[in-house]
Amino acid sequence: MKLASYYEKRNFKNTLEPKGEIHTDSGSNIFVAQKHYSSHLHYDFRLEIDGVLKSWAIPKGISLVPGVKRLAIMTEDHPLEYANFVGIIPEGEYGAGKVEIWDRGVWKPRSDMKLWSEQRKLEFALYGKKLNGTWVLIGLKNNLTHWLLIKANSLFVNNKYDYEKN
Ligand code: MN
Repeated sequence: MKLASYYEKRNFKNTLEPKGEIHTDSGSNIFVAQKHYSSHLHYDFRLEIDGVLKSWAIPKGISLVPGVKRLAIMTEDHPLEYANFVGIIPEGEYGAGKVEIWDRGVWKPRSDMKLWSEQRKLEFALYGKKLNGTWVLIGLKNNLTHWLLIKANSLFVNNKYDYEKN
């Protein structure tokens, strides 16, 4: 079931995080980057795909510098409503700590959305306030939850930049 893992981790009597709903693909293509002051400060990067927010936790945040690789650890899908969430997750709850919206906007795929999960590669453009331009997410081969998020723009040479070698 979609969002099963999201629901399992949370007790909605204790947290103000949204229960949300399961949506069919809304086509609104939102993205959000949330700054999350949990036990380890990190940024949560979320892209609307297939009616949920596909989510990655990025310990060092999203680099604006082309070519800088940032580890992005895939986490459970979140409901679309989570893109509006700001607040404090109480002590003792999953992800306890303050959540802020660092940036948000819409995104557009620049690679085939039918294959991104299988091929572990997603190129996309972000249209936010801080995040504007093209990034790529590349899944690492030795760990299925580990991806790299890389700002791409000036790296493209005829669209054939080899992210894994550079
Ligand atoms: Mn988080």
